[in-house]
Amino acid sequence: MKTITPDIHELSLGIVNVWLIRDGDGWVLIDTGSPNSAGEILNAAGILGFPPEQLRHVVLTHHHADHAGSLAALRLRTPADATAHPLDADLIRRGTAVRPTLKPGPSAFSRVLVRLFGASGSAPYEPGIVEGEASDGDVLPIAGGLRVIHTPGHSAGHIALFAERQGVLFAGDTCANMFGLGPSIMYEDAAAGMGSLARLATLDFEAVCFGHGRAITRDAAGRFRRRWAGGI
Ligand SMILES: [Zn+2]
Ligand SMILES: [Zn+2]
Repeated sequence: MKTITPDIHELSLGIVNVWLIRDGDGWVLIDTGSPNSAGEILNAAGILGFPPEQLRHVVLTHHHADHAGSLAALRLRTPADATAHPLDADLIRRGTAVRPTLKPGPSAFSRVLVRLFGASGSAPYEPGIVEGEASDGDVLPIAGGLRVIHTPGHSAGHIALFAERQGVLFAGDTCANMFGLGPSIMYEDAAAGMGSLARLATLDFEAVCFGHGRAITRDAAGRFRRRWAGGI
C-alpha cells in the first residue's frame, strides 16, 4: 500500500490500483479491482483501521471488469452505496466488461500489451447496484470535495476524480504510468481520449494516481502538461 496523503492510500491489486480515502468517521473507496478482490481490499482497509461497516461510498471511474469487478461482493459485505457516470452505470448494473468499440490504442506497443493483458478483462462480471450517478462538474461530498471530470475516450462514461483540497487527481484509465507516463493501451475513441487528457492537463494538482502503474506524487501537473502538449 502506498500513502499518497495522510488520508489517501493506494492499494495495488497486482495489475490494477484502487484507493482508500478517510472520510470523517468512515472511509470511501475509488474502484473495486477485478472480480475476487473484495477480501484483499477489506484486509488492507483493516490495516488502516477502516472497518467494513464504515465503508460509506464506492465511486467507480468506469465500467471495466478490473475496476468494477468486485463491486457486488463489496456491497454484500459493507453498507456502501455506489456512484458512476450515467453512461457507464448501466453497464455496471449488467456486469458488461467491455463495449464492442474498445480497441487497442494508436501505438504498436498498445497492440502487444493488449495481447498480453487485454483478453482477461472481457468476461462479464457480477452485476453491481449503482444508485448514484455522477456527471461532469459535480462535486461529491467526499474528503472535502471530490470533483467529477467526465473524461470519455477509454470508456464513454469514464470519470476522473479531483480531490482539490489534497491536490490529488485520480486519472483512472485516461492514461497509465506502467512503462513511463503514456496513453492507456485501449480506447473506444482515441481522439476523445486525447481531448480528455488535454483537459486534465489544465488542472493544478500535485499528485496523480493511475488505474495502472505508479502514482506520480510531485509536480504531477507539470509532468502532465509536458507529456500531453504534443498529443498522445
Ligand atoms: Zn479500463
Ligand atoms: Zn483498467
